[in-house]
Amino acid sequence: MTIDYLMLINGRWVESLTKERFPSINPFNQEIWSTIPQASEDDVNDAIEGARKAFDTSWKNVSGLERAQLLMKLADLLDDDAERMARLETTDNGKVIRETKNQMHFAARNYRFFAGYADKLYGEVIPMDNPLLFDYTLREPVGVAVLITSWNSPISILANKLAPALAAGNTVVIKPSEHTSATTLELGKLIQKAGFPDGVVNIVTGDGRVGNLLTQNPNVNMISFTGGTETGKLISRNASQNLIPVSLELGGKSPNIIFEDADINAAVIGAVAGIFGASGQTCVAGSRLLVERSVYDEVIQKMIDKSKTIRLGNPIDPLTEMGPVANKSQYDRILSMINTGKTEGCKLVHGGHPVLDNELKNGYFIAPTIFIDVNNNSTIAQEEIFGPVLSVIPFEDQEEAIQIANDSRYGLASGIWTSNVKRVHRLAREIQAGTVWVNTYRTSAAQAPFGGVKMSGYGRERGWHALLDYTHIKNVMVDLSDNTRDPFSMQM
Ligand code: NAP
Repeated sequence: MTIDYLMLINGRWVESLTKERFPSINPFNQEIWSTIPQASEDDVNDAIEGARKAFDTSWKNVSGLERAQLLMKLADLLDDDAERMARLETTDNGKVIRETKNQMHFAARNYRFFAGYADKLYGEVIPMDNPLLFDYTLREPVGVAVLITSWNSPISILANKLAPALAAGNTVVIKPSEHTSATTLELGKLIQKAGFPDGVVNIVTGDGRVGNLLTQNPNVNMISFTGGTETGKLISRNASQNLIPVSLELGGKSPNIIFEDADINAAVIGAVAGIFGASGQTCVAGSRLLVERSVYDEVIQKMIDKSKTIRLGNPIDPLTEMGPVANKSQYDRILSMINTGKTEGCKLVHGGHPVLDNELKNGYFIAPTIFIDVNNNSTIAQEEIFGPVLSVIPFEDQEEAIQIANDSRYGLASGIWTSNVKRVHRLAREIQAGTVWVNTYRTSAAQAPFGGVKMSGYGRERGWHALLDYTHIKNVMVDLSDNTRDPFSMQM
């Protein structure tokens, strides 16, 4: 039996005004398991109006302490519901349950982290040259924020945006990916249960057209987007028409660098986590493995050995390590990129094909794939694949490793495996990326800021830095003197 979801607009659960719906497909078996409303332009406008009204009325009078309590309550509800939410997410995008469950608790941790800031967003008193001027700042919410998320980690990515947005006193309109709307709508139920006033959180569903309408609307005050670089550029263009700020969390082609002085076994585990975890469908995927020539053969052999043991299977089974990729277009694109690697002469040493075993044949399964001796200029080393496809690239010394690592239009994440402490700090400065992991990969924390440089976007999520994206600084200057100033000698 399929579940027919509704959208959350201004505190009410509604159908699209056009009644249009589309199916959501389980990538493990290609079965339709739920249907989702396709929002119309009027639905989008209603949601933005609802958010605007709540911002100007009910939400405005909710204190920082009350916002913190609501966020804490939401975190508790999400923790309590983590198992069910994880099952729904796994059904929707095929990510293994051991990761989706972890992500529910990680999202709850994010709501708690930002709850702690909700009553601490104060300004500062600024010393003036003239003691009879009193100057201070107020940190204010920006207003109505549009939050657009991708399908790979809907609840965890949403928490990166929604938690600071609400903590800072904004109202929001959320648009999840058409491929994975269910858990975001389920979160809407938890948000209501937590007691957030109507209109503070609105959720509209549908394809990219809905995102396009949201990002063009003149009543929106900021946009936070997670998705592909090309979509990010379109959104940035839309935002420029209304001169509103945008935070863009985009794609990557991250270098994971293994030096000869590393703990090689640990590095291999990190490299596997970097590219085969989540079937390679993470923005931070360590899709370029740079390996020092002296340990190159050893690392490749260990990568192949480890890849052979990865348990592919039903993602709902807690023992499964790699599930299917999330949808048909992903599946087709990854297989086409594997073909490009082959035709460009990259040496395939493992995988490189769909998995058609009995139990898996109806799912979008692709074998963990390893290309070696890859030239960094080849397509598979430069383009984001967003799948379980690794390019292994040799290097001779530290300088060459830095040069190859930075020879990419992206700058999201990176990893360094070494026991040389000087090298760690030297590379941490030299590598052009928003995150540098040292002797670990894909490790994350609510407190640590995350984001990209270059074509991986701008703005930061998590950490207190995220709050800067969701607030304005207002300056207040008070003249304490009794004298009238000369109106023709002012500074501005
Ligand atoms: P996408 O195609 O760019 O879509 C992202 C979101 O934007 C979806 O909700 C999508 O809706 C919506 N959208 C599509 N066209 C739009 C338009 N013209 N205007 C406004 N919104 C529009 O990306 P994806 O395939 O979902 O996600 C994969 C990409 O996300 C990868 O490049 C990955 O690296 C990146 N990502 C980055 C981060 C990070 O933190 N840096 C994290 C995760 C993923 P529909 O899906 O309904 O079309």
